[in-house]
Amino acid sequence: MPLVASMGCMWSSRLFWKLFLTYAGLVLLALSVCVAIVSGWQEEQLVEQVRRRLHDSATLLRDDLGETLTTGRSEALQQKVVLLGEQTKTRFTLVATDGVVLADSEQPGLAEVVKMENHLSRKEFVLASHSGEGTSQRVSPTLGEPFLYVALAIKQDNFILGYVRAAQSMASIQQEVRSIRQLIWSVGLLVGFSGLVITYWLTQRIIRPIKELTVAAEDIATGNYPNRIEVHSSDEVGTLARSFEHMSRELQSREKQLRVSGQQQDAVLGGMAEGVLAVDARQQVLFANAAAGRALSFQPDEIVGSPLLEVVRSHELREIVEQTLRSGELCQGDLSWQADTMRTLNIHATPLPGDPCPGVVLVLHDVTELKHLEGLRQQFIANVSHELKTPLSSIKAYTETLINGALGDSESAPRFLRRIDEQADRLHALILDMLSLARIEAGGAALELSEIPLQQVIAACLTDCEERAKAAQIELQNEAGSDSTIVRADEESLMQILDNLVDNAIKYTPSGGAIVIRCHQESTEAVIEVSDTGIGIAPEHLERLFERFYRVDKARSRELGGTGLGLSIVKHLCQTMGGSVSVESKLGQGSTFQVRIPLA
Ligand code: ADP
Repeated sequence: MPLVASMGCMWSSRLFWKLFLTYAGLVLLALSVCVAIVSGWQEEQLVEQVRRRLHDSATLLRDDLGETLTTGRSEALQQKVVLLGEQTKTRFTLVATDGVVLADSEQPGLAEVVKMENHLSRKEFVLASHSGEGTSQRVSPTLGEPFLYVALAIKQDNFILGYVRAAQSMASIQQEVRSIRQLIWSVGLLVGFSGLVITYWLTQRIIRPIKELTVAAEDIATGNYPNRIEVHSSDEVGTLARSFEHMSRELQSREKQLRVSGQQQDAVLGGMAEGVLAVDARQQVLFANAAAGRALSFQPDEIVGSPLLEVVRSHELREIVEQTLRSGELCQGDLSWQADTMRTLNIHATPLPGDPCPGVVLVLHDVTELKHLEGLRQQFIANVSHELKTPLSSIKAYTETLINGALGDSESAPRFLRRIDEQADRLHALILDMLSLARIEAGGAALELSEIPLQQVIAACLTDCEERAKAAQIELQNEAGSDSTIVRADEESLMQILDNLVDNAIKYTPSGGAIVIRCHQESTEAVIEVSDTGIGIAPEHLERLFERFYRVDKARSRELGGTGLGLSIVKHLCQTMGGSVSVESKLGQGSTFQVRIPLA
């Protein structure tokens, strides 16, 4: 890290400032105390030195002039003291036992000495009169400046003859003390500054790795995983940094694994056709996939954390969830749900592992279609049974009548046998249609799609139906005679479609009517129209007309030998070949069936 950046980074660290200021404070405090002690001690030493020198000088003076004191004041004594004072740069004072000043080195002559006041009350003399020696530090009333005084008593046979006093001005001592103190403080400041620099260096050495670790920890917290932490020390902080690096790498790889498995889980759950919904023990939504949102009409992202019952107001769902939470076992049930249409959802509720049960996972299957198909199947079985039962009952009744004696009745027997034959034909036709329909629906009808000229198939169909039409006195008109449309279809199936439609048209058109077959092309399809001038179909029947066994008039259809499966077979064959069928009709005026088949 560049120095400036590293310093900037340091200065913003509170821990750095805490440590640095504490250390710096301690260093400066210790230094100040040391300097204060040393400078005080040095002052004491200097004063003591001066005191000793004054003591020595006073002793010398005492030994030299002690005996002259008894002679009293004299100019000679005064001059000698002056001379000694000048030579030793010391003030000397000779005082008699009664305190009268005999000589003073600071006075030019005896006349000035005489004017000096009595010195007996001065502190140093008071002390000297008691113990033979006295020291005092005070302002001289004579000279008006601070002095250090050392007074010695001059004794003879335990009798005080007088006092000798040596003094030195404190001004020079204080000057000396000041300059030494200045020196000590200068050295102290220098040492203090060096101490601060060393403290700074030490602090930042301690803080930098901690700062690096803090940045790394913050990075990890925000999801950026550093591979390397710039801490090179081999101490505990270095070990911590290596552990951090290891932890960071581990976290990174675990997060990646989690992300990948989360994405896979999302992809799997999102891609499921079944809805998946998880709730906790308080029935609050933990998760829901897109299919669940579609099935129960909510936005999966918006409902996480909401109570399930607020999202899906369903009594059935609540009961299933509560039962699962209570029992801790798998439960299932159906739920009716009003979406665009009424849907039936089958719900599998699995408890989450744990005791007490911490939540439930609900898997929703939309079984609406299944239920509908199941209904159709049951209805189909009922219809088939009914359709089979009617001709079989007739056959049984006629057969029993013949057995019970009608066989000998030459008039009735042939009639009954004809009825039995008719019913057998009906059964046969019914079973053929059912087999045909079952095969088409199961995809088992082997269609051979090829290019077929439409006109050829229409002509063949009309030829087949000609006899029936003539018998019913209905005119068949082929308006597709010159058409050259070629379709891609299975010939036999196409024949079956047209045959069914023309046969129906013949059946439901009264004699004297007409049936017209046309065809034209629309985009990629050929449109074949079979129109009749028959009884027509009321609009309410049109929607269900192509359902199996659906008839507008059941009795009439049976009478005409219909099975109710013809149009259903037409619809399925058209769809299998990639086409469609539709109808337009007006009651009493006739019907037009339109078949669309892809062009070749
Ligand atoms: P069916 O064997 O009864 O004819 P279909 O499936 O072929 O069965 O026809 C179903 C019903 O549609 C008939 O019962 C009849 O009521 C009505 N239908 C079919 N074609 C015509 C048509 N051309 N004119 C009037 N009604 C028709």
